[in-house]
Amino acid sequence: MDIQKVGVIGAGQMGNGIAHVMALAGYDVLLTDISQQALDAALSTVRGNLARQAGRGKISEADMEAAMARISTTLTLGDLGQTDLVIEAATEREAVKQAIFEDLQPHLLPHTILTSNTSSISITRLASRTDRPERFMGFHFMNPVPVMQLVELIRGIATDEETFAACKAVVDKLGKTAASAEDFPAFIVNRILMPMINEAVYTLYEGVGNVRSIDESMKLGANHPMGPLELADFIGLDTCLAIMNVLHDGLADTKYRPCPLLTKYVEAGWLGRKTQRGFYDYRGEIPVPTR
Ligand code: NAD
Repeated sequence: MDIQKVGVIGAGQMGNGIAHVMALAGYDVLLTDISQQALDAALSTVRGNLARQAGRGKISEADMEAAMARISTTLTLGDLGQTDLVIEAATEREAVKQAIFEDLQPHLLPHTILTSNTSSISITRLASRTDRPERFMGFHFMNPVPVMQLVELIRGIATDEETFAACKAVVDKLGKTAASAEDFPAFIVNRILMPMINEAVYTLYEGVGNVRSIDESMKLGANHPMGPLELADFIGLDTCLAIMNVLHDGLADTKYRPCPLLTKYVEAGWLGRKTQRGFYDYRGEIPVPTR
């Protein structure tokens, strides 16, 4: 199957990164969101990130302009029906994702492959609500998309081989590496990463350490490039909480219970970098721990 046009749903931090790498690899990208502001912000973020790559000599100015010219935006979800591959990267809530696929379905070309960038939600369940579970799969990029090498590809129970092969070919064309994961809660990377982040929040909650000592311990003591709380802010605390809830519900094991302090930060709207405050406050010159 020849994929040329890619539709991206959700112009947040993942959606803009996906649009960036797809356009740079030569795909025509149609990006949608419910908010015009999010679309405008995404285009300026992509331009800024491409300019940084050009500044470092990784791409040419011409590559940058050609990539920008390949990205169009729309507020009309149905317009994405004309693409060959749809990657849904909207908010990590199952009801939101289900409503998107339901609204998109009547506009789809028969051959269009549907995928979700979900970090944790069942691909099989999302697929079962569409008219094409055999052409539905998980296409899970890591954050930040232009930098991270891995893409997890997740087959639902009904995903056919042609669909997997088509998505694998896209990952290859992006110059990234695909890891095949089975469709169990949070797949491979987040199944391992999120309980570690949640445990770091428990360590903070119980007063074993403060934000700075926890992050420093894991950087210097375990050689992690970022501390777990810094990483949680980077991912988004709402996304972290949503993934813990999926693990807890889906695997029915109390070891996955989300830390009450994580819930409290999300209730406060302190979602990390994207809202300027999380375990660190990003409103000043340098990030300052909030605990
Ligand atoms: P985000 O909050 O930055 O962006 C979500 C975007 O979706 C927002 O712009 C919002 O307006 C838009 N949106 C909400 N409802 C919509 C709808 N009905 N139609 C169109 N757009 C809609 O979130 P994000 O961090 O980019 O995460 C998006 C997805 O990617 C989630 O499924 C998340 O689990 C997954 N993901 C996130 C990360 C990460 O590190 N943040 C990594 C891998 C995968």
